[in-house]
Amino acid sequence: MSDEGAAVVAAVQAIAERLEAERSYLTDLDSAIGDADHGGNMARGWSAAAEKVADLDDPDPATVVKTAGKTLLSEVGGASGPLYGGSLVFASQELDGGITAETAVAFAETYLEKVQDRGDASVGDKTMVDALVPAVHTFKKSVETDDLPPVEALAKAVAAAERGVDFTVPIRASKGRASYLGWRSVGHQDPGATSTLYIMEELLDVATEHVDVAETPAVDATSPTVPDGEEAAED
Ligand code: ADP
Ligand code: MG
Repeated sequence: MSDEGAAVVAAVQAIAERLEAERSYLTDLDSAIGDADHGGNMARGWSAAAEKVADLDDPDPATVVKTAGKTLLSEVGGASGPLYGGSLVFASQELDGGITAETAVAFAETYLEKVQDRGDASVGDKTMVDALVPAVHTFKKSVETDDLPPVEALAKAVAAAERGVDFTVPIRASKGRASYLGWRSVGHQDPGATSTLYIMEELLDVATEHVDVAETPAVDATSPTVPDGEEAAED
């Protein structure tokens, strides 16, 4: 399997594990302002996606993302299935040429565009868009204007998403199920913004590991600076 394809499979698996671990917390958030299914939706959908992508034969990154998105579409109903799944399927084409800083920015922008096309939500509506917009804008600016390496740019994007999640707490929902509550939605954190943050945190983790492996120079076993026993990789 290509290194990049394998890294994206690992990311889907890490996301599935994280969302399983957060299942009851996400459900609690959704029970306050929705119908208490977001934890189950995310855990079930991403675990099915992890199984599907593990079965792919030597996939490229775009195929992994597309397969994960299709699985979410078929496994998860409600608002979040089509928003996450459909947008992943659509944005996966941006990774056709592999993963570079440039294609990662294009992927993030296309994903956000599709979420907003489908859901018609803007910043301030108390949805996943409140985490995504600052994250995607920060990622793009960090790569294109500040010239940061992609993993550092992703770390900034995660911090921006975190602030976006906090921003959902004091505002009133104007889209999705939570909007039925009107002002009673104030004071609660949005579940979809929260799962978006968790997914981004896992992407950052996997990207960090992947870049460490790819960019760490091979250890020179003859170097006197290498302590005994550390020159050989464990496997
Ligand atoms: P449902 O609301 O159908 O029960 P989920 O509970 O799985 O679906 O997902 C709820 C989350 O979906 C919300 O917390 C919000 O972030 C997101 N969401 C709902 N409607 C929209 C929308 N129109 N645009 C963007 N995100 C939305
Ligand atoms: Mg729900």
